[in-house]
Amino acid sequence: MNVFDPEVLGRCMSCGFCLPACPTYALTGDEASSPRGRITLMRGIEDGTVSLFDPAVQEQASMCLGCRACEPVCPAGVSYGLLLEQWRDTAWRGRDTPWLVRPLLALTRHDLVLRVLGRLRRHARPGPRRHPGPHLLLGCVERVLFPGVSRAARAVDPDLQPGRGPGCCGALHAHNGRLGEGEAMARALGDRLPGTIVTTSGGCAAHLAGVLGRDRVAELSEWIVRRGLLPPARTGQARPRVAIQDSCHLRNGLGVSATIRTAVGAVAEIVELPSARDCCGAAGTYSLLRPRESARIIAPKVREIADAGVDLVVTVNPGCQRQLRTAVRRAGLEVEVVHLAELMAGQR
Ligand code: SF4
Ligand code: SF4
Repeated sequence: MNVFDPEVLGRCMSCGFCLPACPTYALTGDEASSPRGRITLMRGIEDGTVSLFDPAVQEQASMCLGCRACEPVCPAGVSYGLLLEQWRDTAWRGRDTPWLVRPLLALTRHDLVLRVLGRLRRHARPGPRRHPGPHLLLGCVERVLFPGVSRAARAVDPDLQPGRGPGCCGALHAHNGRLGEGEAMARALGDRLPGTIVTTSGGCAAHLAGVLGRDRVAELSEWIVRRGLLPPARTGQARPRVAIQDSCHLRNGLGVSATIRTAVGAVAEIVELPSARDCCGAAGTYSLLRPRESARIIAPKVREIADAGVDLVVTVNPGCQRQLRTAVRRAGLEVEVVHLAELMAGQR
């Protein structure tokens, strides 16, 4: 079969350095649930010795979080995230598309529906048409679930113009078996929003940068630091104790984590969680598709948050924000989960 990029697949030398970084391998201890095990399956699919639609193979395509924690530790530079997208692009087609994913993909295709829902939820008011930028990406999930994030981002930098036009960048589609469509959505968004696109979602930042080019995209913390928008140091005021949850695709795909700490450190005392860099189990649609594994993955993180005695947890991605807020609430912790934009704008 011609499912995978042969050059990327060929890079893996089966060294196993990626195994300790993989959350699903940590859950199962099973080689098949590790990056190396999945790459072995991919090679079998490619040479025809393994069926793409074998239930055990489909199980591995589904169980993988797509967190890309296996990428930064890989000495051969295997772009595992791309291989997973290519895998699902063939395996999650037609009746094999998980049924829970279908309505989400359909909803995020409809710009009008997103616009109406977002306006009802009072996200930041869109800027003028044909603005040269910088544009603030209102997104799809975020504009509906967390409309205050775009308002806070504008409070941090009033020059950011909330972008009109397509709501979804296509990351959701690219990660869920619609790679070509996801890339086309990103290109359409890039055409409608010329110049720099600033996003408050780590997942969108990584997807857009992959399609439009790194120089077109800035995640909010990068933007804050680059533009010198850090507030002046205040003395004599109590600073909240804040834990940070990295975004997997932002950290593992774009290598962005230091600017988040620079921004948070300007207004708060950072308490690093041992698992700050590890996936929270939200992983796009993962918490919907695999709720049991998702709950097992976030459980130790919630215990760390409880032990750390923090006032806030800061996230840089709407999926993480929803996942952590739900988990913290269920655990009965008196800890707020906020977006970086809300912390920086003092809106929490
Ligand atoms: S670390 Fe990289 S080269 Fe080694 S097994 Fe994992 S994916 Fe393959
Ligand atoms: S993307 Fe995450 S869950 Fe999937 S193989 Fe890599 S480290 Fe494991």
